[in-house]
Parts: sequence; structure tokens; C-alpha cells
Amino acid sequence: MKLKKLNPYERLMSFVVKDKLTECWNWTGAKKKFGYGYLMIGSRIDNTRKTVSAHRYAYTIFNQIDIPKNAWVLHTCDNPSCINPNHLYLGDRRQNTLDRENRGRNKIPGLSGENHPNAKLNWDIVEKIRSDYEVLKYKICLLSYVYEINRRTISDVVNYKTWKPEPPKED
Ligand SMILES: [Zn+2]
Repeated sequence: MKLKKLNPYERLMSFVVKDKLTECWNWTGAKKKFGYGYLMIGSRIDNTRKTVSAHRYAYTIFNQIDIPKNAWVLHTCDNPSCINPNHLYLGDRRQNTLDRENRGRNKIPGLSGENHPNAKLNWDIVEKIRSDYEVLKYKICLLSYVYEINRRTISDVVNYKTWKPEPPKED
């Protein structure tokens, strides 16, 4: 009996265990040092066999696009082994560092979101949020996550309901 050949989607999903609470799709296959999953794709016959990162591969499969050169696939959930396409977004190395800092990998549990003592707005942050929203097209829920500020506050900021007028421009 011949084994049914899985399509890329089925193959990916066969390695996934979904976490009901976080909605993360945790990779149960092989993992690298920092918890990023990987798998082999392609075939030895036509020399296309190679190792790819599970989350990058998932991004291309689910979004049906190729990842632009030099782009990183980043996690909104900060969980390297997660391949849920809803938790993945494109960015670059600089953004990866920024996002990590903003989320604070070592933050104290229970101090996220609006309970976070640093969840205070200032003009610097307001401008960053607006630019992420307008230029990078970040969704409000993602901004809320990245900046650890509640969605309502973010929404007021990006809709210019609060923090107006614009600060004076420095030349
Ligand atoms: Zn996730």
C-alpha cells in the first residue's frame, strides 16, 4: 500500500498542536536552538530538497506569497514555535529587536496591557503608533499588543481623538 502524499498544508498541519488558550499553533516537529521549528521540503530527485523554517514556510503557504528578500517573519505572540498565520507578520531585523524590546521578553506576569506601569503615552510613542498604523498598516490589535496599551486607547490615538494637535515639528 502506498502512503498518501500530503500536500504542503496537510504536511504542516500534521506537525501542529493548537493551543486553545493562546491560539498558538505549536510546532511538534524538529526544532532549532531557540524553539523555531523546521522541516525538509522538496525532493532529492530533482535537487530541490532543503530545510526551511516552519514559521516562514507556514507564512508562504497560508498567505500564498513569497517572503520578500531580507524580510523576517515575526511573531505577535512571541512564541518561536508557533506557526499560526494570524500570529505572523513581515518585518525586518530592526523591527524584530524593537518589537521584542517593546514586548519585553522578561516582563513580569500580570503586568501586561493597561496594567503595565509603562503603558503611559507620550508624544514619541504616539507618533510611533500613528506611523505604524498609517505606514506599516498595523492593525489596532497588533499595536495594542506591541505597545502594551489597550485597544481603546490605541484607537483614540490613531483616529486623532486624543493627542491633538500635532506636536510642533523640529527643523
Ligand atoms: Zn502564536
